[in-house]
Amino acid sequence: MKILLTNDDGVHAPGLEVLEAIAREFSDDIWICAPDEEQSGMGHALTLTRPIRLRRHGERRFSVTGTPTDAVTMGLRKVVDGTPDLILSGVNRGANLGDDVTYSGTVSAAIEGALAGVRSIALSQVIERDGEPDRDTFAAARAWGARVLAPLLDTPLPSRTLVNVNFPPLAAEAVRGVQVVRQGFHDYARGTVVEGRDPRGFKYYWFGLEAIEHTLDHGTDLEAISEGFVSVTPLQLDLTHHASLGALAERFAD
Ligand code: MN
Repeated sequence: MKILLTNDDGVHAPGLEVLEAIAREFSDDIWICAPDEEQSGMGHALTLTRPIRLRRHGERRFSVTGTPTDAVTMGLRKVVDGTPDLILSGVNRGANLGDDVTYSGTVSAAIEGALAGVRSIALSQVIERDGEPDRDTFAAARAWGARVLAPLLDTPLPSRTLVNVNFPPLAAEAVRGVQVVRQGFHDYARGTVVEGRDPRGFKYYWFGLEAIEHTLDHGTDLEAISEGFVSVTPLQLDLTHHASLGALAERFAD
């Protein structure tokens, strides 16, 4: 099985090492193509106004000067010898739950893979900001990664769908299991806007993510993580709100 790995935290991200270890439990035919710097929050951006540089870091190991979507595109078109059977994106340092998914470079890399017709899975490790400092950040992903992936590798997935996996911020033995759940919702889309002054006296603003609130609806990814489970959510690329098609069409009928 040929596997392409990427990570929106960059080609040197610790989470990419975690992902490589997980992937090697299934195959030795591993290819890496990731952004050369962190690209979190870049969503599904495609670089159109600048050239992309491809750098080789080792055998089957490359980076691009662009977004996660650029990395997958280059991986598929210029890096991997042949077509991969699987694209894994992650393991992201931080959650990609609820409304995070459209901001997420991690999920968007998997979206790009799904658009190309390749089975694609995004993996993210939820971080607890005030958790025990000594604990291995990726403990749950390390321990549960292969176990969660195994059934996802041969389950039929319709075209233009992908799977979003999040690991709870717990020690491996504290994880309660895996739940297949729907995407939840944040009550308010973004967190804080921090205001400050730069060294030259000019005002700046910096978005903080710590104050995002959400109601833990039953059966959602947010609830599963808060209860200590690994969340597995199938996502689709058709964003049409089908139930509204009829009512909206009536407004345009003559
Ligand atoms: Mn990231």
